[in-house]
Amino acid sequence: MRFFDPTNTFIEKNCVQNHKKELLALGSKAFIVTGHSSSKKNGSLDDVTAILEEGGIPYEIYNDIEENPSVETVEKAAAAGKEFGADFVIGIGGGSPLDASKAIALLIANPTETGDCFYVAKDLKALPIAAVPTTCGTGSEITPVSVLTRHDIQTKQSISYKLFPDLALVDGKYLLGAGKNLLVNTCVDALCHLTESFIHATSNVYNRMFSSYGLKLWRDLVPFLRSDERLTEDMAQQCMMTSTIAGMAIAQTGTSIPHALSYDVTYNKGVPHGKACGIFLAAYLRRYEKEFPEDVKEILSLLGFEDLDSFAAFLKEILGTVSLSAEEVSTFTDRILQNTKKLSTCPFILTKEDILAIYAQSVRQIQE
Ligand code: NAP
Ligand code: ZN
Repeated sequence: MRFFDPTNTFIEKNCVQNHKKELLALGSKAFIVTGHSSSKKNGSLDDVTAILEEGGIPYEIYNDIEENPSVETVEKAAAAGKEFGADFVIGIGGGSPLDASKAIALLIANPTETGDCFYVAKDLKALPIAAVPTTCGTGSEITPVSVLTRHDIQTKQSISYKLFPDLALVDGKYLLGAGKNLLVNTCVDALCHLTESFIHATSNVYNRMFSSYGLKLWRDLVPFLRSDERLTEDMAQQCMMTSTIAGMAIAQTGTSIPHALSYDVTYNKGVPHGKACGIFLAAYLRRYEKEFPEDVKEILSLLGFEDLDSFAAFLKEILGTVSLSAEEVSTFTDRILQNTKKLSTCPFILTKEDILAIYAQSVRQIQE
């Protein structure tokens, strides 16, 4: 049994300002990787640049990272980072810029490599990375994973390298202007991380400590997620902390079947990541319950739900539905059955009938 988590993680109000010393210690020329505009609006970008300016660290901002970033985007950004001569990378934003920042730090540190190295096993190291999350779902600030869109095989896939950020600066205040849909989708992503890690084939006492505590915290988010209430400062801190704790759980185990099923739905239907995972969660738990009823009972009790039916109804209420044609379900099912690595994260054998049953319960099937 092993526990490994090298990221220096701080979770608190005014976190970036409080930990400028740790940020400035990472290098002497910073390449900032962020999304199109949200980090400017929520103050996270200004918080970081103010500290770099105060510390006399030159920086360049790359703000062209799209949602579900592609290998091509990462290559383009890395070329700019190399040209600038960066010796550390700061990812600011949701999971997309954070994941991109890890892969970019890898390419800048290995200037003769291209995106071709991402999906082969090579002994490559990345530049130091700092991560400042502004959504409350992926936990990317604390995980070693970088998920990129691969247009060559028309899906999303984690790169082959384990790239833990050196520093994670986590502050819920950046969530305060976020829309409800983004909050719902990303909180549900964190819920999937907590649950998928709990019931993962490699689950052990360490990741379960994070999952159990995180599920208890998530329970407090339920009334907010199903209401029209505005996010309070305290709730924002709790959303963010829950997400980072969920990241600590998957940093030990990885994700499992709902995530595996989500990638084709996001790539082909444009469904946001958290929603694409969340629509499959209840049906996967229903299948899992047949093998390990006590685990499901524990998860539901930590979350404060009486049974799987009420949990499934709650997820449908906050997420809505996704429609797929019979042909799409059949194609995606065949693809997942070929993904033996991801299937092995389920602690029992998942058959084609099981996958089809999960689809039948999770999506609305439409005639083309
Ligand atoms: P995202 O794709 O990073 O961002 C979604 C949208 O939210 C963007 O339009 C972004 O705008 C906006 N946004 C970000 N922060 C905001 C804020 N505070 N207020 C208002 N808008 C904000 O969303 P995400 O769900 O966080 O990340 C999803 C990605 O993470 C996927 O690619 C997924 O595969 C990956 N992921 C990684 C891990 C891991 O362990 N590494 C785990 C799960 C998921 P801008 O473009 O303007 O910034
Ligand atoms: Zn996720």
